[in-house]
Amino acid sequence: MCSSHSIGEDRKNFGESTPLNLNDIQGMRFFDPHIHVSSRTTDDYQAMYDAGIVGIIEPAFWLGQPRTGLSSFKDYYNSLIGWERFRSSQFGIKHYCTIGLNSREANNIELAEQVMELLPSFIYKEGVVGIGEIGFDDQTAAEDRFYREQLELAKDAEMPVQVHTPHRDKKQGTTRSMDIAIEHGIDPSYVIIDHNNEETVKEVLDRGFWAAFTIYPFTKMGNERMVELVKQYGSERIMINSAADWGISDPLAVPKTAALMKAMGVSKEDIELVTYKNAIAAFGKSGQLDEADFLSDDTIDQSQKFEGNTILRGGQQPRPDKSSIIIK
Ligand SMILES: [Zn+2]
Repeated sequence: MCSSHSIGEDRKNFGESTPLNLNDIQGMRFFDPHIHVSSRTTDDYQAMYDAGIVGIIEPAFWLGQPRTGLSSFKDYYNSLIGWERFRSSQFGIKHYCTIGLNSREANNIELAEQVMELLPSFIYKEGVVGIGEIGFDDQTAAEDRFYREQLELAKDAEMPVQVHTPHRDKKQGTTRSMDIAIEHGIDPSYVIIDHNNEETVKEVLDRGFWAAFTIYPFTKMGNERMVELVKQYGSERIMINSAADWGISDPLAVPKTAALMKAMGVSKEDIELVTYKNAIAAFGKSGQLDEADFLSDDTIDQSQKFEGNTILRGGQQPRPDKSSIIIK
């Protein structure tokens, strides 16, 4: 409970023109290392930019339904390094991605084998900062196989690994994911274990891995719990993300949690580490992520085109300043 502002008020006010706690984090920069912006709208991009998000990582994942062929994977990977990166740039946000075969679709073995052959042609592309998101969903034998094969790929490429941990049997699945990474000779400092909670964080940190936390609205791992975790474990090797996608999720989860941390007395240094610096350090090991990329204050030019396409629709003018584009 905060005495002066409740988080409910924050939520209500953040998207409006007079944000309650946004002033507390004004001037701070944020980096969201897990967000599926392909599923989000331009309003989201605008709000993210306005809240201080300067860079993001979009991990490859599933579409909410299974793909039926290899071309679908190929087009999706191409969109992550192509159109979506361009779209993000049009809102002043630097877009990186991780490329991999997600755990759910690892269970279609015939297709998964084809995807494994495709991956090497994407993971070395510019702005690809890791293999991800990979790991376990139902913890099947097929998931185990393709997780291991992708760890080998990451090892050969000396790239970070973004590990999705299962929502069911999380504790056991998280331990297993780390055991397998160690078994394959991966340095824990190259592995970001995602979707942690109070039950998994200690082991992840003790074993030298990065611990990422996803802040979902209306769930157990809400941002008040996150603030308590940072108070308890500190800021070393901890990072937070929104994992916002096509489901009920919040693309402003990182700056909102930062505002709550500020209100609840977490130091500015610790906030900066868990909402910005740690993710950049972890994925920076790829050699493909440079803070200088988003520190330069380039003016946004929305009249730019990507292969002839622009984000502007008939008759729209490029946004000359950084004020809201929402129709009032
Ligand atoms: Zn995800």
